[in-house]
Amino acid sequence: MEQKNGRGDDPDALTVLVVEDDPGLAGSLVRGLDRAGYRATSVDTGRGALTRVPAPDVVLLDLGLPDMDGIDVCRKLRRQSDLAIIVVTARGEEGDRVAALDEGADDYLVKPFGLAELLARIRAVLRRIRPSGPELLSHGPLVVDPRTRKVTVRGREIALTPKEFDILECLAADPGRVVTRQEILERAWDAHWYGPTKVLDVHMAALRRKLGVPGLVETVYGRGFRLGEGG
Ligand code: CA
Repeated sequence: MEQKNGRGDDPDALTVLVVEDDPGLAGSLVRGLDRAGYRATSVDTGRGALTRVPAPDVVLLDLGLPDMDGIDVCRKLRRQSDLAIIVVTARGEEGDRVAALDEGADDYLVKPFGLAELLARIRAVLRRIRPSGPELLSHGPLVVDPRTRKVTVRGREIALTPKEFDILECLAADPGRVVTRQEILERAWDAHWYGPTKVLDVHMAALRRKLGVPGLVETVYGRGFRLGEGG
């Protein structure tokens, strides 16, 4: 059984293959990864993981699979290519985690785990194995590429002015954190901006309109702005 999701149309998104025989967990991981800007699919067997062409960029590998020992799957995947392998195990399988790392896994996560931690582990592993690769900032339907200054929302490219991009980059660098008006002004305008902050509101309004997702940029009254989940 294979589950697909909506970002399959974005050829630039990194691909993640979830190897997990629990359909509920596989489905929620695929949805979460998809929302975070990856192209995620799942298979429920080790064989399905090993026969995947082309190889994904990242594999999330459950060790308890119905057809093969997850450690063997890890070893064979590692021989096939230099993809990132993050092993997912139940608590109490320390021997398995050690074996998986010895067989080429890049990291492991113990169930149950939160999506935020999983996404952070994926980013960390990708930074380690492809240090020169572009670091995409993604949050909900939004993906910001600081290198090319390209912005997409649900895979659709959005044309922003340089100022709008700078503002968005401030917010996307740390989604969920409230960024103060002064911080944005200093980063997007000038380190010593003490002028009227009305100018920020004008650019912010234009940015929101172009992004077209209500709630993606939230106003936190008296404090500043942050990226929200969007509608
Ligand atoms: Ca399992």
